[in-house]
Amino acid sequence: MDGSHETKYVFVTGGVVSSLGKGIATSSIGALLRTRGYRVTAVKIDPYINVDAGTMRPYEHGEVFVTEDGAETDLDIGTYERFLDIDLGRSNNVTTGQVYQAVIQKERQGVYLSQTVQVIPHVTDEIKARIYQAGEESNAEIVLVEVGGTVGDIESLPFLEAIRQVRFEVGRDRTLYLHVTLLPYLGSSEEYKTKPTQHSVATLRGVGIQPDGLILRSRSALPPEARSKIALFTNVEVDAVFSAYDADHVYAVPEMLEQQGIAKLLERHLKLERVTPELRVWHEAVRVLRQPEASVNIGVVGKYVAMPDAYLSLMEALKHAGIANRARVDIDWVSAEAVADGDLDQLSAFDGVLVPGGFGVRGIEGKVRAARFAREEGVPFLGICLGLQVAVIDYARHVAGLEGANSTEFDPYTPHPVIDLMPEQLEVDGMGGTMRLGSWPMRVSPGTLLAELYAGRLEAAAVAGHPSTVFERHRHRYEVNPAYVDALKAAGLVVGGVTPGMEGRGGGLVEAVELSDHPFFLGVQSHPEFTSRLMRPSPPFTGFIRAAVARRRGDAVAAVPA
Ligand code: GLN
Repeated sequence: MDGSHETKYVFVTGGVVSSLGKGIATSSIGALLRTRGYRVTAVKIDPYINVDAGTMRPYEHGEVFVTEDGAETDLDIGTYERFLDIDLGRSNNVTTGQVYQAVIQKERQGVYLSQTVQVIPHVTDEIKARIYQAGEESNAEIVLVEVGGTVGDIESLPFLEAIRQVRFEVGRDRTLYLHVTLLPYLGSSEEYKTKPTQHSVATLRGVGIQPDGLILRSRSALPPEARSKIALFTNVEVDAVFSAYDADHVYAVPEMLEQQGIAKLLERHLKLERVTPELRVWHEAVRVLRQPEASVNIGVVGKYVAMPDAYLSLMEALKHAGIANRARVDIDWVSAEAVADGDLDQLSAFDGVLVPGGFGVRGIEGKVRAARFAREEGVPFLGICLGLQVAVIDYARHVAGLEGANSTEFDPYTPHPVIDLMPEQLEVDGMGGTMRLGSWPMRVSPGTLLAELYAGRLEAAAVAGHPSTVFERHRHRYEVNPAYVDALKAAGLVVGGVTPGMEGRGGGLVEAVELSDHPFFLGVQSHPEFTSRLMRPSPPFTGFIRAAVARRRGDAVAAVPA
């Protein structure tokens, strides 16, 4: 049984096809509850057997999101954080792998001694315990639980059974089931087809769950006849059938659902107090996205250019920074391999160049070239994690005169390993969850670009009693080699931030580098995109876009406001 007698649970399942935007739907509902002042948390259930998303290819699965506590999670956790404006953690992403790992461990410890260990009740109990725990840990009034995959999948069955049991345990007033499906549109007959939705709801009913509401994905707003027809066939009240039609911006979805009264369903069913939501931030964001005062073109030089979901948080952080600068940010994906082959022309068209995080040698020389180009041509540059590392490689090779400088990740025999494995990584043998992960402090040097960008947070930090220190999330194994820090500094590279407490390592593990005679050139070892929010854009991104806007306008010196 769950610990609190008040926590309420909203379950979101999906049907018909995958990649429906269940995460956006769940997050939008969360946003509508948050803007009503409720304490909300969200749990993503991933029925795959991986323990976490950290070992999966971003090219297939989308980005690996990193939480404050260093969990490597599904990208939906990032969407929840951005929409709900809360920090989540390890317990917000539940996978089959974690559940079985725990059950098997308990079996070996003798916790179930003398019993036959089975899916029901042992696995389902473990799932329920995790759902309840997420609510308790965060002291949430409402827990949103999104079940990944599609109803009918073999893998999701134990999870559906577990969420069915939750209503059995805590009661109808404290549980709400929403089902998200796709309504395909047939051009020849000019109508939305409802049959797949009917079948999907029938399958859900087959495992004992009658949805209380439907969210129907379609190309355009749903005609009223289709709504009543679906209501009749699925046994869902007409005013609990919502149309989630294709939106021009994801941040327009909360309002779209609000207008149709989705919150009223929640209030009614979960017996919540009626509260008027405060949607100003959302209105304003969508307004700027629709009517920007400026626009910039950012070239993102990466490996997974054919799969934008692989860089989801990065794209959102750029969007947030754009909104803060009242500008539209157009992203052009540039294949690092094409740049390596000498295709530099396209880079000159950009108002800013960004090299995102990444792993492996593929495309590395192209990224180094892109950093060099931005440095030499005075184009605003932001390097994230690997992006910092390639900027340092370029600087070492072409300014500090360290010929052949490289990272030992890409060339173990380089004469100048300016980027090298962190000493603590030498002892690591497994691959899952073994990087330097999660939130780490960064001590910011006064008088730097970094200090100007983080001014607001530094003031807050001083008040909070940790002066000059801000926190960002990390996910890496390599660092700037302390043995080369003095040589790089002597050649003019500015180290704007270091990890405090690691002073032995060349004055501290390098967290950020910049150039003084450049409109905007910044590399950070962290991933500030993970903490960027609509309401609180990330400082490096905001500064980068501000510089890009200035470049587009033709201002001589861009950079930071006084
Ligand atoms: N591959 C690099 C490292 O492990 C960079 C990682 C990243 O960009 N997230 O240090």
